[in-house]
Amino acid sequence: MTTRRAFLQTSLAMTGAAAAHRSTAAEPAAPISSQELQTILDAPVLDRSTLRQPVKIASIELLQNGNSHLLRTRSADGLEAITVPHQAKIGVLTPLLLKNVIPAFVGRDAREIEKLLWDVYRHADNYKLQGLALWVCVAAVEMGILELLCRAAKRPLADLFGGRRKRDVAVYYASGTRGNTPEAEVAALQKMVGESGARAIKFRLGGRMSRNADSLPGRTEALIPLVRKTFGDAMTLYADSNSSYDAAEGIRIGRIMEAHGYGFYEEPCEFDDLWSTKQVADALTIPVAGGEQEFSLHRWRWMIAERGVDIVQPDLHYGGGFIRATQVARMAAAAGMTVVPHMSGGGLGYLEVVHFASFTPNIGPYMEFKGSTTIPVSCDSSTLRCEQGLVQCPTGIGFGVTIDPEFVRAAKPVKL
Ligand SMILES: [Mg+2]
Repeated sequence: MTTRRAFLQTSLAMTGAAAAHRSTAAEPAAPISSQELQTILDAPVLDRSTLRQPVKIASIELLQNGNSHLLRTRSADGLEAITVPHQAKIGVLTPLLLKNVIPAFVGRDAREIEKLLWDVYRHADNYKLQGLALWVCVAAVEMGILELLCRAAKRPLADLFGGRRKRDVAVYYASGTRGNTPEAEVAALQKMVGESGARAIKFRLGGRMSRNADSLPGRTEALIPLVRKTFGDAMTLYADSNSSYDAAEGIRIGRIMEAHGYGFYEEPCEFDDLWSTKQVADALTIPVAGGEQEFSLHRWRWMIAERGVDIVQPDLHYGGGFIRATQVARMAAAAGMTVVPHMSGGGLGYLEVVHFASFTPNIGPYMEFKGSTTIPVSCDSSTLRCEQGLVQCPTGIGFGVTIDPEFVRAAKPVKL
């Protein structure tokens, strides 16, 4: 393990893309103890210096308009935040959100959000529901409360997290397709990138949770070199297996990616098989990325201390929100690792990762961008589009966007 770290730190064989991930890290790769990481987890995250008065949470409501869901968070003194929960998941999780999560926050001071993230875990024995479903609900509320705090302070989101470090965020385009031929996938990637000017792309390998089976026999082995040949050496390439392989097959596929200078290799093994994932990361020089489904900060601490992955990918919804993802990022920074958050699609996931990138020091070079949303949203400080490979982070209060007031008015509170 130490040998691999030392090798990664000094390797001259590293590709430009892989090196970029390392060069943006706050520290050179170095062993870090679990105890040192715990100290980071115990430290406060938010800068609350601009919030001198209590912001009492009066109500939190889930709203529905057609297939879309919103969250409306109100303070006792009349502030209102409209935010966007995980569109694909919150529908089936509504009872959990309304019965077990929201009550832990109503009536409390929003400035205590970091303490409330622990309280909600204990509330009504919620820890017995520990998992992605619980934390998706908590993330919905956390984002509502962060927006409320920003409205109280009249500050952008980044100011709660130490301030904006960059406004222009470089993005990569990601294909979600499997099962098509390598030639068809390359054509789809070309169309997707189009005139965006994106300098990085990601596509899918293997069969997704498929125990080594490919989505089409031979597709992965053919696609890896073909994408490189088509887009040339200047394009940064990533590929995601979505938990397709065991360790041996994961290593075999990773070596093909290494031979073609790929920037990272995402989720080679089943996501909760930390041991096989680490085996792949130990065997390869290409950075292994992972953690999108991880919701346990204890397991994150272990993965970072043991270098189970090289790039951490907390999801801002699945893991419980911006504060917990920032805790993961700060642990990773102390270990000399970068963070490339996973992007939940639907809602405003593409915008959330742009915000996260704007204030996180050890952020990776490119964020995932899909840019399609079912939520009608406007912004006066950013086009919210990818232009010349960059998306501008909004600079207004909170998330810096306005959800169409007509759309909000037509959305009705969801009752059980
Ligand atoms: Mg993934």
